[in-house]
Amino acid sequence: MKKHNYSAGPCILPQEVFEKSAQAVLNFNNSDLSLLEISHRSKDFVAVMDEVRALALELLGLEGKGYQALFLQGGASLEFLMVPYNLMKVDGKAAYLDTGTWANNAIKEAKLFGETVVVASSKEQNYNHIPTDYTIPADASYFHCTSNNTIFGTQMKSFPKTNIPVVCDMSSDIFSRSLDFTQFDLIYAGAQKNMGAAGATLVIVKEEILGKSGRTIPSILDYEKHIKAESMYNTPAVFAVYTCLLTLQWLKAQGGIAAIEKVNEAKANLLYTEIDRNPLFIGTADKKDRSNMNATFLLVDEKNQETFDKMWKEAGISGIAGHRSVGGYRASMYNALPLESVQVLVDVMKKLEEVVKQNEVTV
Ligand SMILES: *Cc1c(COP(=O)(O)O)cnc(C)c1O
Repeated sequence: MKKHNYSAGPCILPQEVFEKSAQAVLNFNNSDLSLLEISHRSKDFVAVMDEVRALALELLGLEGKGYQALFLQGGASLEFLMVPYNLMKVDGKAAYLDTGTWANNAIKEAKLFGETVVVASSKEQNYNHIPTDYTIPADASYFHCTSNNTIFGTQMKSFPKTNIPVVCDMSSDIFSRSLDFTQFDLIYAGAQKNMGAAGATLVIVKEEILGKSGRTIPSILDYEKHIKAESMYNTPAVFAVYTCLLTLQWLKAQGGIAAIEKVNEAKANLLYTEIDRNPLFIGTADKKDRSNMNATFLLVDEKNQETFDKMWKEAGISGIAGHRSVGGYRASMYNALPLESVQVLVDVMKKLEEVVKQNEVTV
């Protein structure tokens, strides 16, 4: 039986993506060749790259608006340094919002390039909320934020208005909700959380912000070189890129972001309602900032842990142990996770409440 997979990443993908990508490894497009043994410059693969780049922009409502989509390697973590390399002016500075571990890692890399202003941080409260009321220096080269904090279960519901370029790490909620994506000048996301196999990184960049840093950028780290080469500057992660294409095709067939957003809201509502109702559990993130992708919660009384862990494992649930820096539980409800899987988890939580009540009666 297929597990109810709550893994934070790499994570669940649509079943048809697993099936079609497996088929392509055996025989790609009826060519009697594997996807893995053909040139990335072959007609068949160039078509994959062209389509996935176009589809990414289409789904985000960014086609024809001066943006380019790239599928690079190195993960979101490489973008932590490609962003300052390409955008931070020599002798300039950059502004960062510190909302969690990943934001912090991005800040660390930016500091290697120049002055890095942390406009606000929720670190002191173990990142349980998204800071508000901060000012972004108008002379910074860009403002960087993280839309969804995968580890701490918080999500930015709105984004600050500023005249400088806005850069956003959307690794764990890309393609999960409707936003006006034109408010961002650069978006990046590792594929392995809502898009495809690990190995590819999506970068969406507004071309007009490039070429202004005054830095000499190594070719492989230069967005302009990647744009010019149509995301084929060197050999792309062919398998990962192909799985992204399949996932985005699946998403389009579901009705796009607006349709999946409704499902994601239903899943998040179902789980958070139970976390709030059930006296045995408590959510860790501020309610107003709760993530619809990663729900973090704790058992009020740790003595129930053994029973709960046994129960969810028996129910076929996988991957809800929290990140080691927060503990507790984390249920990652990415696009491909069905509502039924959330119902299974909620049922286990209710069952635990019954079991605990019965034990109290017998004691
Ligand atoms: C997982 C994650 C990263 C790290 O991604 P890699 O592709 O492993 O480098 C960065 N940012 C966020 C928000 C993440 O969830």
